[in-house]
Amino acid sequence: MSATITIETSDHTQGVDITRQVQEAVEAACLSDGVCVVYVTHTTAAVAVNEAADPAVMEDVFAALDRLVPWDGPYAHKEGNSAAHIKSVLVGSSVHLPVYDGRLQLGTWQGIFFMEFDGPRRRRVLVKTVTNDWE
Ligand code: ZN
Repeated sequence: MSATITIETSDHTQGVDITRQVQEAVEAACLSDGVCVVYVTHTTAAVAVNEAADPAVMEDVFAALDRLVPWDGPYAHKEGNSAAHIKSVLVGSSVHLPVYDGRLQLGTWQGIFFMEFDGPRRRRVLVKTVTNDWE
């Protein structure tokens, strides 16, 4: 089973907590025991699991990425958004999450974040569920 989450980002860089939507996709797929893959179909965005309790944590992550990969190059890519492409590579396009008893097995403080690096844009995130429920 697969589901698509559509996200309209409103800022140039932005973290969007998509934990609830991913859990809903797991429930819609009737997945009880298995794995859920969350995949971002873009080259200037990413997905990560990190702390969802304190918004300052993701703020720090974005700020650290900005220090590591400044927007102004020099870069070879002429579109002018190389920093966003590089951040996408560093953070990654997918995460795998274990599912047990129909629930994402996230830790107490963990959430799933879509990470926008070149918005605002309309974005697509795929949620693919793989079952272990073999009869
Ligand atoms: Zn580009």
